[in-house]
Amino acid sequence: MTLPCPDWFTKAQARAAAMPPLAADRRWRAFNDPEYTCPCCGLKGPGLQDIAYDHPDAWPHGAHADQDEVIWQVGRDRLTSDLCRLKDAYFIRATLPMPLQGSDELFAYGPWARIAPEAFAAYADPQAPFDGCQAVLANALPATPPMRPVACAVMPSQPGTRPLLFAHDGPLRSGQEEGISFDAILALYAAAGQDYRGHLGEKP
Ligand SMILES: [Zn+2]
Repeated sequence: MTLPCPDWFTKAQARAAAMPPLAADRRWRAFNDPEYTCPCCGLKGPGLQDIAYDHPDAWPHGAHADQDEVIWQVGRDRLTSDLCRLKDAYFIRATLPMPLQGSDELFAYGPWARIAPEAFAAYADPQAPFDGCQAVLANALPATPPMRPVACAVMPSQPGTRPLLFAHDGPLRSGQEEGISFDAILALYAAAGQDYRGHLGEKP
C-alpha cells in the first residue's frame, strides 16, 4: 500500500515486508478468513481493524458514540467524528500507521491530534488547501509513555481518508520504524477486551 509519507516510513515498510512472511502463520490466515470459525467458541475471523479513539483524551463530556448528534455541541465545545474544539484547543482525527512485520500491510491507530488554529481552519475548510502541519498526539496510545507530549507531523492522505500522523521521536517513532508484530497486535486487542489468542489455531 503506497501512502504519502516520509522517506523513513517508506524504508520501514520495505524492512517490514522483508521479514519472515506472516502468510506462513496459520493464525494470521484464520484471522483474515471470514469463513474461519473457532471450533471451541464459534469466534469468526475478525480481520485487521484500526484501534480507534472516539474523542481526544482531554474531552470531558463523554463519548460521541453515545450521542445521536453528528455535531455534538456542549457550550462552546464541539465534537464530530473528525473535528473537535475544546475551549481554545483544536483537534483533528487522524490515522497513525505502523508497518505490519512480515507483510506489506499496515496496522493503524485512529487517534486525535492537537493542531494550531490556523491549520485547523485550513483543514476544516474543503475549499482551502491543506498541506499538513505539526501536531501533538491527543490520546495516550499503548506505545506512548504517559503524561509526555508526543510531537508528530500531520500529512494529508488521499481524498476522503483521514490525514496521517508520523511521530518525530520516542517509542512511537521507534514503533513506526520497526513495525508491529501480529502477536503484539493480538495483545493490543486482548488489552482492549477482545482476546483472540488461543482461538486462531496454534502458533507455528
Ligand atoms: Zn474459541
